[in-house]
Amino acid sequence: MKFNPEKCAIADERMKPFIDADELWGHLQQPKPDAARVRQIIAKSLNKERLTLAETAALILADEPELIEEIKNGARELKKKVYGNRIVLFAPLYIGNHCINNCKYCGFKASNKFAVRRTLTDEEIIKETEALEDNGQKRLILVYGEHPKYSPEYIAHTVRLVYGVKKGNGEIRRVNINAAPLEIEGFRTVKEAGIGTFQVFQETYHPEAYKLYHPSGPKKNFEYRLTSLDRAQEAGVDDVGIGALFGLYDWRFEVMGLVRHTNHLEAVYNVGPHTISFPRIKDASEFDIDPKYEVNDDDFVRIIAILRLAVPYTGMILTARETQRVRTEVMQFGVSQIDGGTKLEIGSYSDSLNEEQNLNREQFKINDPRSLGDVVDELLDHGYLPSFCTACYRKGRTGEHFMEFSVPGFIKRFCTPNAILTLAEYLEDYAKPEVVTKGWKVIEENKKELSGFDRLEELNQRIERIKKGERDLYF
Ligand code: SAM
Ligand code: SF4
Repeated sequence: MKFNPEKCAIADERMKPFIDADELWGHLQQPKPDAARVRQIIAKSLNKERLTLAETAALILADEPELIEEIKNGARELKKKVYGNRIVLFAPLYIGNHCINNCKYCGFKASNKFAVRRTLTDEEIIKETEALEDNGQKRLILVYGEHPKYSPEYIAHTVRLVYGVKKGNGEIRRVNINAAPLEIEGFRTVKEAGIGTFQVFQETYHPEAYKLYHPSGPKKNFEYRLTSLDRAQEAGVDDVGIGALFGLYDWRFEVMGLVRHTNHLEAVYNVGPHTISFPRIKDASEFDIDPKYEVNDDDFVRIIAILRLAVPYTGMILTARETQRVRTEVMQFGVSQIDGGTKLEIGSYSDSLNEEQNLNREQFKINDPRSLGDVVDELLDHGYLPSFCTACYRKGRTGEHFMEFSVPGFIKRFCTPNAILTLAEYLEDYAKPEVVTKGWKVIEENKKELSGFDRLEELNQRIERIKKGERDLYF
């Protein structure tokens, strides 16, 4: 078939695979773009339009240092212009690491005899959630291995359990999920428990590479995984999260895969992914990965900047797999959510283990072990506005990132005031005295940006109500 850059090789249909590796590589074989073309593409993105596959490929191919700088500047500007300085905070909670798959990169794989297998009991889930609430968390992502134990009913049960835990002023207001793909009925079951986003990472969008890394178990079926978030949409789960595990295959191809996935969801469900994750592979127990496709820090920044420009209205998640230094550096190019106070060893939020006990309970090594308090502190130092906001999801405003992006005044009306209110709660309930002072200063600075805005008076009143002890006030 002749390569046509304007048309996708596979027509988009609901629940039908959509990746054609030759098509994605075809785009990456176009001639390198000149500076004028790169600038025109950046301008399109700053004009709030999602990029095509051909345009994304052009940004990937632009590898002269000056053009890379222009791309990074474009991403920085877009982030500032569209999202402002808010960073949403969350924490992962690992529920269980039993697994029947053998993903070569993961410490939970079935063949890893050293892994200490454990599923939290209901009491333990409650204890872990209480410990997370005591730190100030409001948003969690529950993570599960793939195992018949972790049925949709069980997942829904754990979600309800977490929502039911209230300690002091603490409560979890949004529970997201990262678990194995489900059938449509299964997605319906977990939706009824009130989940936020359901994430399934494709790991690699290259079908042949995928086979090598997933030799056995249900996960070896590339197409079943690829269409999983279609099934979620069919079940009414309209906040879905996509991701690629960088380091398994050529990063250029994976960026194209993520954009193709976005196109597909837009084409058939009229809504792109809620979030994109771009984890870089990290060492794990019984790790078995060739470093050939390892992504260095410079290319990692390029990946983030290109994705920011390619899919301007999608939330972008950066986790504690990365070091504090890398996180601080790359956040400016488009990240909107990070985790804080992360512990991956099962049961460790409420139970302090020694190093050796930890080793075989975690899925992979994390590199930013700071507490939530320290992460908030550093965000404030860098002029970010830490946010624990869950308002859109609770008000039924799904597709919120798209609204932030496209509805004039949305950020001023909703996002900034809600970020301020949730930060005010955090400062009142959980922050150390020096962070409290910094935090109120940042709140005052952000209020200035709302001057002349009709919500400011109401916002001030709500802040006073929070100081007097009321909680969970949002627009
Ligand atoms: N078991 C489910 C699955 O595989 O989809 C969900 C949970 S899995 C623990 C969550 C994600 O962790 C995977 O999708 C993969 O991208 C990531 N992961 C696994 N091993 C990793 C490693 N060594 N370094 C970084 N991320 C890893
Ligand atoms: Fe199991 Fe998920 Fe780890 Fe694969 S990535 S071994 S499916 S927990």
